[in-house]
Amino acid sequence: MVNMDAVALTIAGSDPSGGAGLQADLKVFQQLGVYGMSVVTLLTVQNTQGVTEVDVFSPEIILAQLQAVCSDIPPKVIKTGAMGNARVVEEVGKVLSGITCPKVIDPVLVSKHGHALVADDVIGSYIEHLIPQAFLITPNRHEAERLSGVKIVDRSTALEAIRQLQRFGASNVLLKAGCMENQQYHFLAMGSDVEEIVTPTILANNTHGSGCVLAASIAAWLALGELGLENAVRRGVEGVYQAIQCNSQLGKGIHPVDVRGMSQQTI
Ligand code: PLP
Repeated sequence: MVNMDAVALTIAGSDPSGGAGLQADLKVFQQLGVYGMSVVTLLTVQNTQGVTEVDVFSPEIILAQLQAVCSDIPPKVIKTGAMGNARVVEEVGKVLSGITCPKVIDPVLVSKHGHALVADDVIGSYIEHLIPQAFLITPNRHEAERLSGVKIVDRSTALEAIRQLQRFGASNVLLKAGCMENQQYHFLAMGSDVEEIVTPTILANNTHGSGCVLAASIAAWLALGELGLENAVRRGVEGVYQAIQCNSQLGKGIHPVDVRGMSQQTI
């Protein structure tokens, strides 16, 4: 059952295979009982085997979508995914700074296949326009390295990268550090406090969309309103683990995570 008071907006790219991007975000919102809206930033041509083209929309048409939906149905939470280029980040960032709801910034740079989804110039624009207003930023190891300039090789460099992102103005940081000591490590920094969230590593080829699904589920739990950030993140990480375990085997490449595996726990 969807709670029509819990409205979440994703500003993201389209993945026509339905595993990642705004399609994944909307599926997660629905699965967790949140009313989802989407502003499209770019189109990818892709399937589970790879991305062959990326076509970024003009800032004008992106801002027109944003204005149309936000003036009509104000979101409780906004999530951003692939933004395309520096100008899109800048223009969207300026509009978002006038909207007071929490923003979950997933700084998507490349697809799981290693295909660039955004231009190189996007880094400085993230630092200037989006990170300072992030309630939460959710980089993976590669994204955190590119944004912070810190090479992450262990716990202490992971913390150094997190501190740099906080200095840029992010209120909270969820660093998806990936595999360490055979387990998946997530570091959640809330002010000076850092929690480690660890899940077993699943050796599976069905992780397409896992980053989008994690950020979208945290946004959904926040939109539902009664959980604090730490519980929203813990539920998000647990949900992605469930979605990877639920092995869809769809497609001939990296199979999409299966959001039907995420339990719609009652709050
Ligand atoms: N956004 C779009 C439009 C994509 O196509 C992709 C990957 O292909 C992503 C985001 C990131 O996907 P993932 O969650 O697998 O990192």
